[in-house]
Amino acid sequence: MPETLFKVDLTKPMEKQDVPGHNRWHPDIPAVVSVKPGDVFRIECKDWTDGQISNNDDPSDIEKVDLNIVHVLSGPIRVEGAEPGDILVVDILDIGALPGDEWGFTGIFSRENGGGFLTDHYPKAAKACWDIQGIYTSSRHIPGVRFAGITHPGLIGCAPSMELLQTWNKRERALVEKGGPPWKPAIPDLAALPNPEQAVLGTLAGSEFDRVAAEAARTVPPREHGGNCDIKNLSKGSKIYFPVYVDGANLSMGDIHFSQGDGEISFCGAIEMSGYIDLHVEIIKGGVEKYAMVNPIFKPGPVEPHYSEYLIFEGISVDEFSGEQYYLDAHVSYRNACLNAINYLKTFGFTGEQAYLLLSCAPVEGRISGIVDVPNACCTLALPTAIFEKDIVPT
Ligand code: ZN
Repeated sequence: MPETLFKVDLTKPMEKQDVPGHNRWHPDIPAVVSVKPGDVFRIECKDWTDGQISNNDDPSDIEKVDLNIVHVLSGPIRVEGAEPGDILVVDILDIGALPGDEWGFTGIFSRENGGGFLTDHYPKAAKACWDIQGIYTSSRHIPGVRFAGITHPGLIGCAPSMELLQTWNKRERALVEKGGPPWKPAIPDLAALPNPEQAVLGTLAGSEFDRVAAEAARTVPPREHGGNCDIKNLSKGSKIYFPVYVDGANLSMGDIHFSQGDGEISFCGAIEMSGYIDLHVEIIKGGVEKYAMVNPIFKPGPVEPHYSEYLIFEGISVDEFSGEQYYLDAHVSYRNACLNAINYLKTFGFTGEQAYLLLSCAPVEGRISGIVDVPNACCTLALPTAIFEKDIVPT
């Protein structure tokens, strides 16, 4: 077993850990540990909510979750020799649940507290807890379904430079001031701007803490550095190429998902869990310019659940309430593909909430199938039929 360089005590919040991690992005959050290129090591992570959700049948913890605390991350990890303009190559050698904590949760956030992709249809909080047995999972809250996980960190990336951080803050603030597109529901907010409330910034204290807490970016969106990409295929065996912006790269990660469908649609949509990640790192000097890199690039690993039969639901960019036509809008089309799949599953005895939770966390494939045939974008959602105990194909 590789040496564990970041440990978590699941009975304590992140800020009370012996070595605390962080829940904001800022170049001045100090590294907690240093590694060399070529090193192999283990990092432990808490679940993204810092232990706010319990393994029970009561969704009131999901309803009341404090989103100022998310996402709690492990790191930053300094990689000796990494400089701005280099590529940090990260191999995810292994990833899994922590011993004694083999369970996860999927949530629908209430409209009043974050919402999700389909919050206009499913405005109330709901929760499904999942038992993890080796590579498989099943839930007492969604009977009739069992599948293999595609376990990955929802969130991983290097610290931004001060210049990049300021770019993020400026453009996200401008969006909030400008307002959203016509289909934008009132919830969730357009962007999560810097908020010092509940900030955890490693070992920073005093006036340095206050300054960094006021400037630091929230971890909610994916950005140039990767971050909260929620890409299910960053699983075991994958190799990720990250742009480096600060000396030492300062790599952080968390938000481990046992499984997730493309889009992670309910927002707390993966099977969220604590866990460990075994990593190997290397550096490609000057790689950012050499490969014209803006955002991370990755190679998926050779170990993923293998499903060969799917039932695929189509969606187009027409508003499901008003019937209004939108122009090549993949957001509206994917929403319709998801709603079509949910309404279909309801005819097999699932509740709408169960189907919504299932599409969020099961290994479903989402695609932009057509993006040029005016005025409709066509998105598809592919549901692996083998995850169901009974046959769900039309007869
Ligand atoms: Zn997550």
